[in-house]
Amino acid sequence: MAVERTLSIVKPDGVGRNLIGDVYRRFEQAGLKVVAARMMQLSQAEAESFYGVHRERGFFKDLVKFMISGPVMVQVLEGEGAIAKNRDVMGATDPKKADKGTIRADLATSIDENIVHGSDAADTAAREIAFFFRETEICPRKR
Ligand code: GDP
Repeated sequence: MAVERTLSIVKPDGVGRNLIGDVYRRFEQAGLKVVAARMMQLSQAEAESFYGVHRERGFFKDLVKFMISGPVMVQVLEGEGAIAKNRDVMGATDPKKADKGTIRADLATSIDENIVHGSDAADTAAREIAFFFRETEICPRKR
């Protein structure tokens, strides 16, 4: 399988509940390597732009409000099949429907506050990584 990169965000609930380490441990145990990371406070415009595909959805306003409610931890994960692997580690969008042992099943409280974001396909991963990181900010890892 090809080595891929994917964009991951620990959302404000995960940061606020001191779960960054728990989430990173799950990435690392699944063989996903952190190759770039930054904590930041998203602006309203940034959150609206990042989630632009959902602009017409009923939950868009609440989603943006939540994503700017506190700092987020943004990272690029690298590994074989990293995009699908990260989605597996995250679990389903709705924590009630997520498999046991996934981040969302184990840690999330609701579909609105579901701890993590992860790119869902190769094209979105490329776009989302470029949204947050310059190529020079991503550190290739030999081991
Ligand atoms: P993800 O890729 O699993 O994060 O899911 P989506 O890209 O479809 O949606 C983005 C985010 O919007 C999700 O992580 C949820 O926080 C939120 N969201 C998605 N669908 C719903 C919904 O039906 N109701 C609510 N309240 N929030 C939703």
